[in-house]
Amino acid sequence: MSGGRGAPAVLLVEDNETIRDAFSILLEESGYAVLQADRGAAGIEIAREKSPDLILLDLGLPDMDGLEVARTLSRDSETREIPIVALTGRALETDQEVCLAAGCSAYLTKPIDTTQLLDLLPRFLTGSR
Ligand code: MN
Repeated sequence: MSGGRGAPAVLLVEDNETIRDAFSILLEESGYAVLQADRGAAGIEIAREKSPDLILLDLGLPDMDGLEVARTLSRDSETREIPIVALTGRALETDQEVCLAAGCSAYLTKPIDTTQLLDLLPRFLTGSR
């Protein structure tokens, strides 16, 4: 992990630009350093390169199933310790068991309650502060 820095780094993997921009602003205003990816493959690459403290992962991505992104990250020794919070849109994806089995630590259903999101993140960041 990348502890020892100031602001915890959150990697936001989200293809919807409106959501990505809004969440980036929200997270930055809340004291996080934000990394962004708009595709699953790019998200995996950035996760390996930058070792963020947490990943917010949209499960509906154009290039890869978000669950496959989570599985890939959780099998890779470089990234498997990074907590993943899934952002789910479709009813099928809200199945908590499927999310957890894929390596996610938690999931939130869209539309995302931003207060709930900001309350949730510190639970997964205790080791990095
Ligand atoms: Mn999406």
